[in-house]
Formats: sequence, structure tokens, C-alpha cells
Amino acid sequence: MRVTVLGSGYVGLVTATCLAETGNTVVCTDLDANKISKLQQNEVPIYEPGLTHLVRGNQLAGRLRFTTDSGAAIKHGKVVFIAVGTPHERTGSADLSQVISAASQIGCHMNESKVIVTKSTAPVGTSTRIRQAIEAGTNVPFWMCSNPEFLSQGSAVSDFMKPDRVVVGHDSDEARETMAELYAPYVRTGNPILFMDIASAELTKYAANAMLASRISFMNKLAELCDRVGADVLEVRRGMAADHRIGSAFLFPGPGYGGSCLPKDLKALAETARSNDVNPDLFDVIGAVNERQRTLLLTRALAALGPDPAGRAVGVWGLAFKAGTDDLRESPAIPLIEGLLAANVVVRAHDPKAADNALSIFGDRITLVSDPYDAVRGGDALIIMTEWLPYRTPDFERIHRLLRTPNILDGRNLYEPKRMRQYGFIYQGIGRGKA
Ligand code: NAD
Repeated sequence: MRVTVLGSGYVGLVTATCLAETGNTVVCTDLDANKISKLQQNEVPIYEPGLTHLVRGNQLAGRLRFTTDSGAAIKHGKVVFIAVGTPHERTGSADLSQVISAASQIGCHMNESKVIVTKSTAPVGTSTRIRQAIEAGTNVPFWMCSNPEFLSQGSAVSDFMKPDRVVVGHDSDEARETMAELYAPYVRTGNPILFMDIASAELTKYAANAMLASRISFMNKLAELCDRVGADVLEVRRGMAADHRIGSAFLFPGPGYGGSCLPKDLKALAETARSNDVNPDLFDVIGAVNERQRTLLLTRALAALGPDPAGRAVGVWGLAFKAGTDDLRESPAIPLIEGLLAANVVVRAHDPKAADNALSIFGDRITLVSDPYDAVRGGDALIIMTEWLPYRTPDFERIHRLLRTPNILDGRNLYEPKRMRQYGFIYQGIGRGKA
């Protein structure tokens, strides 16, 4: 099938590449000429495991092309995906300017009937606005789908190739049949394509992210309680997760959730509720718990550094909002580091993949090191912010030797408190109570 993808970010690029992998001829566009030029040379501007290999293979096979010529790209596709950004506005509602502008472009270049698919996360009613924006530029008939994306950064390629489910809201049999054909290779093992009305599909994405966020905030709140009463949140988690009604996913306490999705989608859902006269109290509380959690490690770090933290040094392991990605959007490491810098603490940080992105945020205000042990050398604390694999079983004796004061603040509960104390560390996990 001839496919066009507008937007070559984390979602657009993965969508375009994975659709090319199953034989479709895909043209992928972006406004960012630099991004497109890199992609044309098989340089993938984001870190996503397995993606570079697929981009190269599909470009070589002629199934995947990148261009800034959005007009030609739109004319190419029988199916046109909108995968542009939907950041949140100051009010919390989704900023749809990129989506509406992409829709207007589609309207201007509508050379034949097409299926227009919204992959961007956008609130209920957005498809109607997209339809209007397209219709302003064309009389050619078209069909619409809302096809929210559930991939997780760090496993995006495998999530796309083997989705738990595909959700498709559609307005016609034409749209439904086209999407069924396009997604058939990805649901061969029986994972379902769930067809529904467009409003329900739009809301499903927000509902799923709000549920995931609620599980994290729930565990963070529970961790706070565990610390007070001397219980170990990981034991409580084990006990809860064995209940099949609860399950084990997304039940890890930590430094607060981040990334480009959960924080903004929860805010947008609350705004949708508010503007439809539904009390958003539950959604607001999930977000508020997270905001507090994002300050926890800073408070603890400053307390560990003593009354005069200025000039003391801290090593930070992990900057990305989670392991497996180079993405720093809404990463809890950012407010942590900004808080430390505001207290004139010297910060040395390591991240296996996100160092370049960190450089553009912090510049020379922090020292980025390529060897994690250089981050702790002569420092007064080590703070773990991201659960990267190489941090899981490091050389603790070496860390102890390198630190001036043996504080470890483990935002991801990677280590066993008892073992840490045996090594001589002053160790704090999240909700590990008296463990
Ligand atoms: P991103 O910022 O990485 O990429 C968006 C890209 O769209 C940018 O490169 C931008 O230059 C480009 N763009 C903007 N307007 C354009 C236009 N008119 N034509 C062509 N390109 C245009 O964003 P992302 O992380 O890929 O997210 C995209 C959407 O998918 C958002 O709505 C997001 O909420 C949703 N989503 C993201 C994830 C994720 O894990 N990142 C997962 C599921 C859904």
C-alpha cells in the first residue's frame, strides 16, 4: 500500500519504518530539514533499539523515503498518517496547532480519495477539526481514522511490530477495510484490532495513559507510607502483583514519571473533563502526587549534603526519563539537577544515550562524563535517576572508594539496602522502609 507519514519523531519514524518493513511503500516527511537530511543518510536522530537497522534496510530496498516536500509526500499516499507533536499548552490542554496545520497541508494536496489517520495523541473531537481543516482545501472525498499509538520508547519497534492491540476509530467501511489490510501483518498471532467509533478511540489513548500514570502515583504514595511505617514497598508490590486482577506492570515507585506522554496526556484528559463539566479531581490528584514525587530526591540530596551544600559534588547516573531512550522530555532528572545547581552543588552526570540531549539543556553548567565512575569521583552523593542496565550491578567497592561521602540515593530501587549498608554506604531507596 502507498503510505505517507507526516512527522518523523519517535512515533512517525517508527510507524513509517515498520510499515515499510512489511512491504508498503512509505514516504515520511518532517518540517525539520536537518532531521530529514540525516535520515536520508541513514543517520537516525533518536535512540531507539533496532530502528537504525530497519531504516537502512528499507531505504536500501526503496520502500522508505524521507522528504521535506510535504506536497509530493501527501500526493503519494493512499493512507496518510498524521504523527506530529501535540504538546500541552499552559492551561494543560493539548496544543493542536501542528495537527491542524498538517491537516491543512493535506487539504491543499489532496489529489485522490485517501484515508487520513490521526496517530498523534489528540483529545476527543480532534478528528472533526481535522476533517474541517482538510475540507477547507479540497472537494475530494476522504475517510478518517483515529489510530492512537501505544508504543513505549525503548521498545518502540517491537511494540509496533507485535502490538498488544491496535485501536482504530473510523467513520466508514472504506477506512475500516484499509486499516484492517494495513495492520494484518502485525496481528497475525491473534492480538486484536479493536474497531470502534472515533471519539472512543481518541479517549482510549488518554484513558490508557492516565491508568498507567495512576499506578505509578499509587505506588509512589504507598512508598511514602512504607518509609514512615517501616514496610518495604517492593515486598508490598510482590504481594499485590500476584493478584491477577492487579498484575505486575507499572507498579514500581521511583522519582516520578516523565516523558513526552504521561504528564501531558494526564493534563489534557483533566482539561477535557473540566471543559465537559466532569470533575477532574482524580486525574488532578494523580498529577499532583507525581509533581511532589519529582521533588523527593532533591530534598533528600540537599539534606544529605548538610546545611551548606554549596561547592559539594553530586554524581547523577541516568538522565533520560526512563531506560532505553535518549529522550529527556519531562525527565525528573531535569528538576533534580536544576535544584542542585540552584544550591551551587557541582553536578557530574552520566547517561549511556542521553548525554547529547543533556548538553543542549545544561550546556557547561554540569559535567557530562562518559565513564559512570567519573561521575562519583570525589563526590558527596550518587543519585540514581534512570534504571539503565549497566547501573544494576556496578563495582560497589570502587564507588565507595571514589565517593568522598558514601551517600547513595537510589531513585529506582536498583540495590538491596542491607547489602549497601554492608558496603558502608548511607543508602536510601524509595519506600524501602527498614529493609
Ligand atoms: P516528536 O516531537 O518526536 O515528533 C513530532 C515531529 O513532527 C517533529 O519532528 C516535528 O518537526 C514534526 N512536524 C510538526 N509539524 C509537522 C508537519 N506539518 N509536517 C511534518 N512534520 C511535522 O513527537 P513524538 O514523540 O513522535 O509524538 C508524536 C505524537 O505521538 C504526539 O501526539 C504524542 O503524544 C504521540 N505519542 C507519542 C509517544 C512517544 O512515546 N513518544 C507514544 C504514543 C503517542
